[in-house]
Amino acid sequence: MTVLVAGGGIAGMAMALTCHQIGIPVKVFESANQILPLGVGINLQPNAVRELYDLGLSASLNQIGIQTEEWALVGRNGNDVWAEPRGLLAGYDWPQYSVHRGKLQMMMYRAALKRLGAKAIIADSRVVDYNQSQEGVTLHTINNAGVKETHEGSILVAADGINSVVRKRMHPDEGAPIWGGAVMWRGLSQAKPIRTGASFTLVGKLEQRFVSYPISRPDPVTGLSDVNWIAELTYDVEADWPDSDWNKQVPAAKFKDAFADWDFDWLNIPDLIDSANEIYEYPMIDRDPIDKWVDKRVGLIGDAAHAMYPVGSNGASQAIIDTRVLGAKILEHGANNMALAAYEAQLLGPINELVLRNRGAGPIGILGIIEERCGGVFDDIDDIMPRSEIDDYMSRYKIAAGFAKDQLNGSAQTIII
Ligand SMILES: Cc1cc2nc3c(=O)[nH]c(=O)nc-3n(C[C@H](O)[C@H](O)[C@H](O)COP(=O)(O)OP(=O)(O)OC[C@H]3O[C@@H](n4cnc5c(N)ncnc54)[C@H](O)[C@@H]3O)c2cc1C
Repeated sequence: MTVLVAGGGIAGMAMALTCHQIGIPVKVFESANQILPLGVGINLQPNAVRELYDLGLSASLNQIGIQTEEWALVGRNGNDVWAEPRGLLAGYDWPQYSVHRGKLQMMMYRAALKRLGAKAIIADSRVVDYNQSQEGVTLHTINNAGVKETHEGSILVAADGINSVVRKRMHPDEGAPIWGGAVMWRGLSQAKPIRTGASFTLVGKLEQRFVSYPISRPDPVTGLSDVNWIAELTYDVEADWPDSDWNKQVPAAKFKDAFADWDFDWLNIPDLIDSANEIYEYPMIDRDPIDKWVDKRVGLIGDAAHAMYPVGSNGASQAIIDTRVLGAKILEHGANNMALAAYEAQLLGPINELVLRNRGAGPIGILGIIEERCGGVFDDIDDIMPRSEIDDYMSRYKIAAGFAKDQLNGSAQTIII
């Protein structure tokens, strides 16, 4: 009856905690020697926060992150295109969170260790292959010393990220992830939070933009928070493909000149870039939607199933939702191929559509429309794109991404024990 999970990132940890909640034995195999707090900031939408609350993690989440209060798009001239309240302030029954990805992973890891015991989360154990029969799955792993092992389970849940070996086995002809031309530089700087003090702000246009938001409460003495930022530039897709390693560090000199005059009286972007200790470079990559996440007793979740551009704050959120939907199906059918098929039937269509929507810039696509209509230069946004049109655009995105307020507030719990 054991559920075998490949990968101990956000999706893997959420799957482990969900199996524990529904009383199903689970083992997670993580390739890294040690689980460490890697990455920078991410946002969790209220639909995912609801699931973490249902896993009993509300206090822990509140300790490591801050509740996002506003989402704002700002033109290159510093004028607001759109600003809306988020989370509880927007009337959701659950907050949106801005949080350090590594702290979130570690928080979930510690909860999983406490609830499941150390033997359930196995580091230094790279998944290399699997076989399956009518009765179950055999997973093949190898550690850094070259020791090979096999593990028996009833199903295999692949949470091994964008370069999933399980997905490669299921779709051998697929090839590498797809780069659309954008490169992201990500950093954390100590700075005074702007606007509401818990605002997600995106400034610029589609081809050149800067996102920033605080992920910690301000220090009571200095008033400074950890502010997560992402600078993005777009290149010709024929240019050299940058390595897709989340941990690749580069100097600011690689991109900062492009933002040299992005200094507004309320946000000084060159200062933010200069004050980061470490800057990580990552190409904006995704994968084409596929028509199959499940092969009998083996299923893909999280980035392994649907790696998408991080434009709508839903990579980690959707990874968590996947595990909860799958958990509900396991409760209904048992840990077997029927549960996996039911999970795929519910999510594959809408989430494949979301992958494509994010490739089209997701909610940030509004900036593209504005660019087309006025070259990005405007005094009053109402003259270019009426508020009702923007509101409609945003509403359609939230429905597609599963966090439209009324639907979410009115929906039943995913897992009812
Ligand atoms: C180190 C790291 C840093 C990141 N930083 C950011 C960030 O700053 N901002 C952002 O938006 N997103 C970041 N991401 C991506 C983000 O976490 C995911 O898009 C999202 O959370 C979905 O999570 P996931 O669990 O599906 O995939 P991931 O978070 O990618 O987790 C996959 C896990 O599987 C493990 N793994 C991979 N191959 C194997 C294998 N063969 N056998 C066993 N284990 C395997 C990986 O080590 C990893 O722990 C990062 C991912 C990683 C791995």
